[in-house]
Amino acid sequence: MAAEDQFTIARVRGLLALDSRGNPTVKAVVETKGGSRGWALSPSGASKGAREAVELRDGGSRWGGKGVGLALAKLNEVVAPRLVGLDSRMQAAVDRLLLALDGTQNKSRIGGNVTTAVSLATARAAAAESGLELFEYLGGPGARFLPVPLLNVINGGVHAGNELDFQEFMLVPVGFDSIAEALRASVEVYKVLRGMLKDRYGASAVNVGDEGGFAPPMRSAEEALEALSKAIRGAGYELGPDFYLGIDAAASQLKEGDGYRVEGRLLDRGALTELYVDLASRYPLVYLEDPFAEDDPDGFSVVTRRLKGRTIVVGDDLFVTRADLVLEGAEKGLATGVLIKVNQVGTLTEALETITAARDHGMAYIISHRSGDTEDPFIADLAVATSAIMIKTGAPARSERTAKYNRLLEIEAILSGSARYSASRLKGIVKPL
Ligand code: PGA
Ligand code: ZN
Repeated sequence: MAAEDQFTIARVRGLLALDSRGNPTVKAVVETKGGSRGWALSPSGASKGAREAVELRDGGSRWGGKGVGLALAKLNEVVAPRLVGLDSRMQAAVDRLLLALDGTQNKSRIGGNVTTAVSLATARAAAAESGLELFEYLGGPGARFLPVPLLNVINGGVHAGNELDFQEFMLVPVGFDSIAEALRASVEVYKVLRGMLKDRYGASAVNVGDEGGFAPPMRSAEEALEALSKAIRGAGYELGPDFYLGIDAAASQLKEGDGYRVEGRLLDRGALTELYVDLASRYPLVYLEDPFAEDDPDGFSVVTRRLKGRTIVVGDDLFVTRADLVLEGAEKGLATGVLIKVNQVGTLTEALETITAARDHGMAYIISHRSGDTEDPFIADLAVATSAIMIKTGAPARSERTAKYNRLLEIEAILSGSARYSASRLKGIVKPL
């Protein structure tokens, strides 16, 4: 076999798998001629943006309509034969072929769940054949920054069965100089929070939501931020120097007519802006995601302006990891950060283009899991490969979340002395409170 032949894709298979909510999902396995194997699983969201890549689902009664039989058939019968023979290192060519086979705006023919799994599995196969770690293969020798984790420890919205309107309340550990120390302190706070919530609201308050955070019977954002602040102090840390806080309002889910249903009231854009500004004046709120709905750019631009320099305002549903939407958003000043979810756009190449668009316009980009996720830790490698300043991957609990944290710990150990924790980068771009 010629030396270069070893990277040629020899076989592509789609397999049935389950995600963390028990829904079926797509696993792709790509094998090279050299005998290396790459695999990847597609995650799945619950509070999705309207413009996301579409997951192909069977409908009908089996699996409650969520079956992926059709998606697997497309992968095995339409995609696989066309990929065989391509060079696994030619990620852009592989992803271009996926786009061409699909031919739609939103991946609805082949399925975003198919394109995501195949695209990521191809990268892993090429990395394995190269004998490189995935983050090294994707990021080169400059890949040595460990992202600051956004730990979603109080869940609300559609991820939990409580009355909290905002979806996520996050710990942002910044007073530490390694991911290992940041996670240790975060777990200590998570445990103190658990005890406090149990004492205050009873044992059922520490049942967890989809991303491993507690889902206590709270009603207001203030109550949640106050609980996080107390838990931070209770664990012996300081709000500000040691931990900042973050919120994902997921406000597309709260829209009612022209207003937003929040804490029992219907708020207009101005009132909701004041709520955020007030919270950011009392807590070190470094991160605010989807403060307004995906179809409300005016809300985004006002809150972004008001919180400039203090809070990174991040578009999730707003941008759905699309470079064209990020460029438009940058021009209009809609946000200062971009959430990156590969399956929102459907291929690794497109996600990397969106990262480039964000970087070119001085926007932070944050690599993210989905609420329905799997044991696949790809995003940990992607965050390090792209020097993302933060990663959003849930509470430090439940294996689909800890798989990512554990991989970050492993990467930090692999990099050993050359690893750098991104807290000082984050503190350099915003000064909350
Ligand atoms: P999803 O939401 O994965 O349920 O779509 C996560 C988020 O809004 O960040
Ligand atoms: Zn979100």
